[in-house]
Amino acid sequence: VLIAFEGGEGAGKSTQVRRLQEWLADEGLVARASFEPGATPAGAGIRGIVLDKAQAGLAPRAEALLYAADRAQHVHDVLRPALDAGEVVITDRFIDSSLAYQGAGRTIPLDDVRMLSRWAAQGLQPDLTILLDLPPEVGLARARGRAAADRLESESLDFHQRVRQTFRALAEAAPDRYLVLDARQSPDEIAAAIRMRVARFLSGLPLQ
Ligand code: C5P
Repeated sequence: VLIAFEGGEGAGKSTQVRRLQEWLADEGLVARASFEPGATPAGAGIRGIVLDKAQAGLAPRAEALLYAADRAQHVHDVLRPALDAGEVVITDRFIDSSLAYQGAGRTIPLDDVRMLSRWAAQGLQPDLTILLDLPPEVGLARARGRAAADRLESESLDFHQRVRQTFRALAEAAPDRYLVLDARQSPDEIAAAIRMRVARFLSGLPLQ
């Protein structure tokens, strides 16, 4: 089972990934938490390039290819082996982030980004995606409190609005595969809603 978390800046994804992993472990399941970009050694190098402010001149297609390379390595080294071993796998960001940031954000046609992402992921798709939705003004204000926040200032509010709208549109197009939550709720409220949805999802699976 693959569960993806998606959302804009400052949505609280990493907190909720950790809480879900802890809860699954308490329930006796082997749960692995991972993230993009940067979860593999090669990916860490790629993360350094794509998030380094000094690389601001990166062409949109070059950026898209680097995120795709990070994903290809992530799927190959981490996600696929864990899924094959029967683990519940949680990833902080996946294909939707590329559609939102490289597609809508950098204005590369979504179909191109979709094709590239699918190829990189060898067709792997999340069984469930949890979207932590937040107005960008709120998320950016939260994220500004963090060390690497100066990078965020290089993108316009309009960029982040397009990112948000794309995440929401993807969720609306496949409501059965998404849980959309207002990320302005308290962490406890969000964690409880996630647990309920994941419990329902897992109980509907055939017994192994
Ligand atoms: O989730 P995390 O905060 O680690 O993501 C780091 C940054 O990478 C995000 O702020 C986002 O701007 C960027 N990103 C991106 N395209 C992706 C994934 C992440 O631009 N496909």
